[in-house]
Parts: sequence; C-alpha cells; structure tokens
Amino acid sequence: MKRKIIGSVLMMLLAAGFFYQVNDQEKVNPLGIAGQTEAEGGLLANNSINSKKVYLTFDDGPSDHTDEILDILKKNDVKATFFVIGKKTSTAKKQYQRIVLEGHTLAMHSYSHNYEQIYSSVEAFGKDLKELQQYLYNITEVKPFIYRFPGGSSNTCAGDIKPYIRYINRQGWLYFDWNALSGDALDFSVSAEKLNQNILKDVRRQKVSIVLMHDLHETKHTVEGLEKLIKTLKGEGYQILPITKNTKQVHHVSMSTVFENVPK
Ligand SMILES: [Zn+2]
Repeated sequence: MKRKIIGSVLMMLLAAGFFYQVNDQEKVNPLGIAGQTEAEGGLLANNSINSKKVYLTFDDGPSDHTDEILDILKKNDVKATFFVIGKKTSTAKKQYQRIVLEGHTLAMHSYSHNYEQIYSSVEAFGKDLKELQQYLYNITEVKPFIYRFPGGSSNTCAGDIKPYIRYINRQGWLYFDWNALSGDALDFSVSAEKLNQNILKDVRRQKVSIVLMHDLHETKHTVEGLEKLIKTLKGEGYQILPITKNTKQVHHVSMSTVFENVPK
C-alpha cells in the first residue's frame, strides 16, 4: 500500500514536471523564439561530454529553397534561425508560418534589404524594420525581436553603424552577427563540400559558433550540403540550437564603443 502511495506521488511529480515544461514552451513561443529553450540546451550541455554549440542561421529568405531547408532540418530534428526579409508572395507567407510552426526562430533582417535605403538614415532604417516586424506579426502572430544587420554590423555601407546599433538597443531587440561562415553568397559556384569545409574550419576552433548561411535562389549548394553538415556536426558532438533571447550574442563591433560619447 505504502509503495502504491509513493508510486502515485512520483507519478504526480512527473506529470507536474511535464506540465511545467510544456507551459514554459508556450510562454516562449509567442515571443517568436523557437520552442527549445537555452536552459534545456544548457542542461544537456552539462550532462554531456562537452558543451560545443552551433547555431545555424539562414539570411535573406524566404526563397525557392526554404521548404527544402525546412524539410532537411525536420528530417534531422534540428532547429535553426531564419533572418528573413519582406516577401509578399503566398508561398513566402506560408514559409514564414512554417518556420514558426516547426519551432525555428523567425528573426528579422530587413524588409527591403536595400542597403542604400535602409542605411540612408536611422529613421529610414527604423521604418523598414518596424514594417517588417508588423508584416511578420500579421502573418505569424509572432513579433520577432532578434535581428541581423544586412551586411552584418561590420558592413561598410552604413558609414557609422553605431547609431543603428543604438536604435536596435532602444527597441529592446537583440542583434547577432556571426563567427563562422561558408562564404555561400560570395561565390555561388563554390561546391557544397567546400562550403561545409569552410564552416567546419571556423566551428572547430571555438566552443560556440553562429554560422552564416543564405537562403537565396542562388545558394543551392548550401542546401545540397546541409544534411551532410548536420550529420558531421552531430557526429563531432556539437549541439545544434536555434538562437533565443538567452543566446550569447556575437558582435563584430565592440559594444563599449557604441555607447561612449553618445550625445544626450
Ligand atoms: Zn542579407
């Protein structure tokens, strides 16, 4: 009898724990953050041999490869981050929704991706991003707040990037550059194998990698090599995670310089 009571108590505790986890995900999802939380990643990391983490990110989508990328991620049980731009087609709208529904992080990149326009002034920059955020919210009911500058924060088109960084900061948004890249958008003819070699070279020399890739019509070799890349990373003991609000940010510009000598 006593054993039965202990058993029931244990079952209740387990059920409560399960409920808490589900609830936690529900709280996280409306913020546009993938279902898998960083805390879970951290727990896994502590219990595994190492805590090497890789964040796969795709810029400039949706494209005619987005569904294929999503299929590969689903098949391999991996969540990633999509820094999207504004596209009006019905296919694109379904793809934004699929990104969210399948547990990936829907993140902002810019509505127009027109460097001259968005970097002409902080006002124009802000207008473009607010438009994208509202557009994505209307389609997905998710208000993204994770962001990547077109060209990265180290781009040469913006002139002085610091006012733009301060704008992102004022909105309470988080921006992410990268510390690993394939170079897929620099030369579309580079083979899938070589793109993966480029990524692995960067990833293997650090504990946490944010990998820049592209979801463009032209970057078909990225898609071609994706499954192999995931299998290699998993085989080498890396956790592959989506970016969340708790992910350590990678910035190309030192934040200490961004907030010094700010006009009051
Ligand atoms: Zn871009």
